Amino acid sequence: MPCNTPKREDFPQPAIHSEHMLDRMTEKRRDTAWIKRRLAGKNSRFLLFADLLLAVDSNEDRSETRLRWQSAKDIRKLGVDMDSTMLLGCDREGHAVFAASLSAADATAAPGGMDALKPLVDLRSLAIQGVLSPQDLSLAGMARALAAWHDVARCCGRCGGHTRVFDAGWRRECWACGQEFFPRADRAIIVLITDGTRCLLGHHKRYTHKFYSTLAGFVEPGEDFESCVRREMREETGITIGKITYMASQPWPFPHLLMIGCWAEALTTKLTLEEDELHDARWFTREEVRLMMQGKHPEGLTVPGPHSIAYALIKSFVDG
Ligand SMILES: [Zn+2]
Repeated sequence: MPCNTPKREDFPQPAIHSEHMLDRMTEKRRDTAWIKRRLAGKNSRFLLFADLLLAVDSNEDRSETRLRWQSAKDIRKLGVDMDSTMLLGCDREGHAVFAASLSAADATAAPGGMDALKPLVDLRSLAIQGVLSPQDLSLAGMARALAAWHDVARCCGRCGGHTRVFDAGWRRECWACGQEFFPRADRAIIVLITDGTRCLLGHHKRYTHKFYSTLAGFVEPGEDFESCVRREMREETGITIGKITYMASQPWPFPHLLMIGCWAEALTTKLTLEEDELHDARWFTREEVRLMMQGKHPEGLTVPGPHSIAYALIKSFVDG
């Protein structure tokens, strides 16, 4: 049966996205005098990460959680090197928004450090809980992705020299050989495979019990995303893919991915699973998936939450 692919304008937007967030002020990143004024400005605010965990304001069970904004003065007190801070952009009022990242050990060693950091939480857990607004979740995701890149870009991949931060956190340069490094967004495809009436969802080995999701894989050098979809789906499930339709993309900050979401038409339905990756994969009807989304599936099977493009792909199938 042919696929009834949804229209792109009807595609649901996941909670983590990048629309209407901040003006990224890319033209100001190299303006050191402007950055310096913003770093000292009383209206500038900072998100703080320690070991990539986010400092938030929250009640004990995290049911009420907000981003915790720090001032430049707060950040300096924690011993943050202001030259390593990251400009996320300016808000509608024109106030600069930065992120700072340091090790929990360094932060807690500073006077008042423990209070400034408590509680520190994993952004993925907050995303799953759905306690942050889409705007705050997306902004914290952008900051986390950038901070995660800095964490692995401290040394030059060419000569092993130390790299230093430039352009308000958007470029690193090797002091020894001058090689430049820019923040990475690794490309991955994420795919809703359908045979027209059912969709294919997989249970990954790394997933918690009874959690099923759309299938995904990394785009390799020299590969376009359609070829990647065909290769990855054949390798993981043995399915031959026909028509592929791009639906939407999503910045995914774990650690710094760009997910390319699409629908794919299955030309075959017999499953041959790649056992190193998938524990299980099954064809599900719309009604079964609807029950999974509502938490009412008779086997207790579940799907990802609304923060993810996987949810948007699955919802577009159920709504179809
Ligand atoms: Zn180098």
